[in-house]
Amino acid sequence: MIPIKIHNFIPLFIILGLFWSSFCFPVALAQSSPPAQDPVLYLGDSDLSSVTVDLDGDWEFYWDQLLTPGDFEARDIEKTGLFPVPNAWNSFQVEGENLPGKGYATYRLLLEVADNSQNLGLKLPRIFTSYRLWINGEEMAAGGQVGKDRSTATPQYLPRSVFFRSDDPQVELIIQVSNFSHRSGGILESIELGEQRVILTQENQRIAYELFLFGALLIMGVYHLALFSFRKKEPSFFYFGIFCLLLGLRTIMVGEIFFIRLFPGFNWEIAHKMQTLSFYMSIFVMAMFFRFSFPRYFSKKYTRLILIIVASFSLLVLFTPARIFTPVNPVFQIFTLLIAVVSIRALYKATQKRERGGHLIIAGALVLIISGVNDILFHSILMSDFQLFNPLIRTGNLSSLGLLAFVFSHSLVLSIRYSQAFHQNELLTVELQDINKNLENRIKNRTEELEISNQKISQQKADLEKANQALEKVSFRDPLTDIWNRRYFDEAVKVEWRRALQEGSPISLIFADIDDFKAYNDFYGHHDGDNCLIRVGEVLKKYSRRAGEMVARYGGEEFVILLPGTNQVKALELAETLRQQVEGLRIMHGTGSGENPVTISLGVATLIPDEHNSARDLVASADQAMYEAKRKGKNRVIACTP
Ligand code: GH3
Ligand code: MG
Ligand code: MG
Repeated sequence: MIPIKIHNFIPLFIILGLFWSSFCFPVALAQSSPPAQDPVLYLGDSDLSSVTVDLDGDWEFYWDQLLTPGDFEARDIEKTGLFPVPNAWNSFQVEGENLPGKGYATYRLLLEVADNSQNLGLKLPRIFTSYRLWINGEEMAAGGQVGKDRSTATPQYLPRSVFFRSDDPQVELIIQVSNFSHRSGGILESIELGEQRVILTQENQRIAYELFLFGALLIMGVYHLALFSFRKKEPSFFYFGIFCLLLGLRTIMVGEIFFIRLFPGFNWEIAHKMQTLSFYMSIFVMAMFFRFSFPRYFSKKYTRLILIIVASFSLLVLFTPARIFTPVNPVFQIFTLLIAVVSIRALYKATQKRERGGHLIIAGALVLIISGVNDILFHSILMSDFQLFNPLIRTGNLSSLGLLAFVFSHSLVLSIRYSQAFHQNELLTVELQDINKNLENRIKNRTEELEISNQKISQQKADLEKANQALEKVSFRDPLTDIWNRRYFDEAVKVEWRRALQEGSPISLIFADIDDFKAYNDFYGHHDGDNCLIRVGEVLKKYSRRAGEMVARYGGEEFVILLPGTNQVKALELAETLRQQVEGLRIMHGTGSGENPVTISLGVATLIPDEHNSARDLVASADQAMYEAKRKGKNRVIACTP
């Protein structure tokens, strides 16, 4: 694993910090009120003309009682205790035991404002999960239906503002709360007090901001889905579009919950399911987006694991009521934090490789992930039990801003890619035009090249033929005497026979055999025998040089001389010459009585080819004549008599 160098993230942290602080302003400006040791919260010092005050502190708390202002006037009621608001009542301890999440209670707070001439307002957050509010004895607001059991209570989240004018510097707030639907009950978020104008302005700003986000995400979502429909090759567009739509929906279901303003009677359970599912599914969709954007860093296994987990949590949300699935939500949030860590690591690795536009997407994604983590921590009811973290992470709904950063970076990358594609396109067009212009030249050049290579090929063909001829010659030559061999003779005699047949000309053949060659060989050895064969072959060749005449070694110490167009007389003359010349070589033969030179016996045959005879007859006749010569005492010429 690549070690993460923290300094690489510095720019990111700066950007994040800027986002963070810029969005913190409503909270940062809110003055914290003096803690109320007494049921009376004194706000005399607070300047309500420009800021709001969180009514955080200890409130009177009456567990298991739904009290009205009348009840407090009529009698002294013993309170269960003074408990800090905001907080879930299930973290309150009564007689050493935590209260359950389910139940009902009354909260009461007395405020003292310095200037009671102004119109004041309260900004009420979500209250878990239904409430009724009285200010100075007058019922001012309600969310859902407060009841003493599940059948009479109706939950609803409706953050809203109420405005009032107090004749008295002392203001009494009574809030009945009942909860049978969520795992936590009570006032979990701060109630703000301020001048009507300030409260109204802040609320308008928040709604405007959230609707702006909603609109932007809606448009980006639809835009990316449209892009995907035109370019199915890029599934990342699809997932990005769905992601935008999911988070757009979520934007109006959290914070000011504009969705419930539009549909005040909307079922709380269903709204809660929609809100939770939009979050769960966005995790999977985001993972798929990463998978298709950086396939090398987000494996299929990883997305499949996320799918399985998200699907099982989603099924739980779909098929169980909120009071069952909300306790499981923190588990999913922890899972989300794990995914965030793994994704940041993978994205960091991806930054190491220079992928086109990768850095921008990654920077945007990191802003989104980190702001998302922030929101999980903020929105997490689990965290509201840990007071320590609350001041750190009270920035809420930061992820919509992070999302905007992400959407922006992604769109930027998209436009970079498109402009690069256009540029590429233009380059290709120019190149294509150039190619078209030069096509003729190219064809000419190619043709020339082809011709050259054609010439080369025919040259090679000629060489090959030559080589073949040489090879053929070799196979037709007798290697010892370097005259034609029997194979060649057999072919040649056929050809000459056909020609003589056509021309009606005579054809003669001399058959020559060395006399007593076995004895010579036995006496002098094979080496001298070979030399003798070579010398006899040379003489035969030397005296048979006229056109068409051909000498071949027929086998062993036998030679043939083919004489096309030669009559018997001429053939006999040549045979006699050959006999004399061989004898004249005087290759001495020392066997028997005294020394005799090596001699040859010759048989001569002459035929005029017709349909009754063949080349074979010619050879057979010459052979017979040669044997006749042997029989008559060797070293002589005998003509065949037909
Ligand atoms: P004739 O007078 O009846 O022809 O008797 P010959 O001994 O010449 O005939 P024979 O057929 O009995 O013997 C031929 C000999 O030729 C046998 C063999 O030793 C010899 N011979 C055949 N081919 C070669 C060769 O390539 N080199 C050598 N050194 N001897 C050969
Ligand atoms: Mg022989
Ligand atoms: Mg012989």
